[in-house]
Amino acid sequence: MRSSGNWVRAKVVCDGGDVTIVALASMVPRAVAAAAELSRDQTQTEGARTVLTENTGLFIGGTWRPASDGGLIEVQDPANGKIIAEVASGTVDDALAAVAAAQAALPSWRQTPPRERSEILRRAFELMTERREQLAELIVRENGKALTDARSEVVYAAEFFRWYAEEAVRAEGSVQTAPGGANKILVLRQAVGVALLITPWNFPAAMATRKIGPALAAGCTVILKPASDTPLTALALGAILAEAGAPPGIVNVLPSRRSAAVGEAVLADPRVRKLSFTGSTEVGRGLLAEAAKTVVNCSMELGGNAPFVVLADADLDQAVAGAMVAKMRNGGEACTSANRFYVHASIAGEFAARFATAMEKLTVGPGLEPGTDLGPLVNAAALEKVSELVEGAIGAGARVLTGARALDRAGYFYLPTVLGDVPPDAPILGEEIFGPVAPVVPFDTVDEAVAMANDTEFGLVSYLYTGDLATGLRVCEALEAGMIGLNRPVVSDPAAPFGGVKQSGIGREGGHDGLLEFTETKYIAVQW
Ligand code: NAP
Repeated sequence: MRSSGNWVRAKVVCDGGDVTIVALASMVPRAVAAAAELSRDQTQTEGARTVLTENTGLFIGGTWRPASDGGLIEVQDPANGKIIAEVASGTVDDALAAVAAAQAALPSWRQTPPRERSEILRRAFELMTERREQLAELIVRENGKALTDARSEVVYAAEFFRWYAEEAVRAEGSVQTAPGGANKILVLRQAVGVALLITPWNFPAAMATRKIGPALAAGCTVILKPASDTPLTALALGAILAEAGAPPGIVNVLPSRRSAAVGEAVLADPRVRKLSFTGSTEVGRGLLAEAAKTVVNCSMELGGNAPFVVLADADLDQAVAGAMVAKMRNGGEACTSANRFYVHASIAGEFAARFATAMEKLTVGPGLEPGTDLGPLVNAAALEKVSELVEGAIGAGARVLTGARALDRAGYFYLPTVLGDVPPDAPILGEEIFGPVAPVVPFDTVDEAVAMANDTEFGLVSYLYTGDLATGLRVCEALEAGMIGLNRPVVSDPAAPFGGVKQSGIGREGGHDGLLEFTETKYIAVQW
């Protein structure tokens, strides 16, 4: 048994096998009882035998509390569909209490010296780094991804705290002489105010830290509404930030099943001046309409439909290796995931065959099982959507090179799939697949490839493989995307401006731009 602060981590010896519990000290008896029940359930994998009872309340004004109506969200393990935790589901009243807490904390937080804000973020980075394994396990439990992906996510997520700890002390402004010479133009950047942060389930840690980091660095206070599929990681982050020294009310975490009602009420509250949303374009459109009513400042990170273009002169080994990473990072459940593969007709067959061989080598299984490369999809609806898209593509004439079916076992597993000769008008190419499926489409000319790549309402990221840098840069200019991986399968970097054009979003996260999203410009005309 180990304890840290109020938390206890212990192995409980039960009839059906040992179970690890991680619980608040006061919750240990309940956790032990649940452990005994879980132990009797032989369908649980060894790695999944942990009962989660810590940080399951709403985190408002620095305290943990139940929902005002006692409502709960059941969190399931996508590897087997079992309930692993019950989390308080915030009501509209709870959401407004979080707004009040964030508003009360705002004046002193925005006056707090940047160095102090920076040091809290730096400490949060260190705590996340120290607890990488614990956090990664938590992410796997509620999201399903492979442990290797979860570990990478924790490192990536923590980096946002480190980056914005560094940015916090680099607040910018300017002074210039007005052209007429009569006065000076003084420009300040000030914290926008109370911010509502809404995040998706696919990167439960990184999508939260990518918003919390710059918000706190700028001097904003926040209400984080995580996805209902993955609230546990967000709550763990709330606890870490409090431990790192964030005063009460600076970071409030409010899981809620009533996302629409909560979003509407919070955005209608005049105390709230910022919305930073990451999620689907469909939900984003609705939130923009809500935000318009009170003219709230919005940053939107929305859906993607990333093309992966391979020109005839590309290094095929490099392109296939890149395709594996661009497609399979996070099991294909990423907004940056390559969704459509446009490959020059002279190499499309060879590319697809090698891609299929590489996909077949992946080990599919529960994320915590050693050796797993690909975990389950997040829930039953995701599995159904991916299955339907693949069936539709096959119906449209695509050839199955590997996969193309769900696994016949508990949980939401879908085999790594490569589809060849996909017709350019197949519906799968117009939708975000969000799963381990790669449709390959041959093309004849570069212009044709660019036209197909741009033929979408989305414009988040594109990938391009070519042996000629000059051609590559010319094509990059023509591709309609906020980010491009040129001979590189990963674009995400805390130091870089992440975001999309067209209906993939408004604004940027990460880099210096990410900090500016949480500030307003104030201009003072001054005479001295
Ligand atoms: P989603 O359904 O749009 O949900 C995102 C978040 O919005 C969740 O917290 C959800 O809460 C909440 N929500 C849903 N309906 C709402 C409403 N009417 N009002 C207020 N909040 C609402 O997206 P998802 O399925 O979680 O995530 C996948 C999507 O996110 C994909 O489209 C992906 O491309 C996109 N994404 C984009 C980026 C980027 O940086 N551009 C990064 C990651 C993911 P509940 O869970 O409680 O419904």
